[in-house]
Amino acid sequence: MAEAASQPKFSMSGSGDLVMYHCICSHVVFCSTTPLATSPRRTADNAILCHLTEHPTKDGHYARLFDVLHAPQASIVRREDGFDKIYLRQCPYCEVAVGYHLDESHFEETQNSTGKRADVIFIFPGGLMTTEEMEKGQDMEAEIGKITAKAVTA
Ligand SMILES: [Zn+2]
Repeated sequence: MAEAASQPKFSMSGSGDLVMYHCICSHVVFCSTTPLATSPRRTADNAILCHLTEHPTKDGHYARLFDVLHAPQASIVRREDGFDKIYLRQCPYCEVAVGYHLDESHFEETQNSTGKRADVIFIFPGGLMTTEEMEKGQDMEAEIGKITAKAVTA
C-alpha cells in the first residue's frame, strides 16, 4: 500500500550505546543510540533531525525525549524560502526550548494533514550536551553572553 511513501529518505543507524543528553541547565531531556553529532541536519536552520522511537529499530536506533514540555500553541517562523509551523519542546526545569516538531503539512507523505508530527524532533544546534560535555563544564550565562555580543557587533 503506502509503504514506499513512508520510507524515510535517510537512514539512522545506532551505535548501540545509549547516550544521555542534558539541557544546558543539566536536566536530562533526551537519550539516543544515534549520536547527535553524526545525525542528519535540516538545511533550513541546521537543526539536528532525530526520529523518536518507542522501541529500538532493526538497525539499532532508539531515541526518546523525557518529560519535555510541549509549547501550548504552534509558532510560525519565517524562513528564507517560506514559513515553518513549529511546535516547540521546552525543558521542564528551565523552560529553554531544546527543539521542535514540524507540522505534518511540511512532510511529503502527510502534506494534506495538519497537526504535530510527533515522531520527528528537530533539536536546536548546541541545545543539548552529553553527560561528558556537561562534566567538562558549560556555563549557561557565558553562552547567553556570547550570543548577545555577536548581535551587538554585527
Ligand atoms: Zn533546562
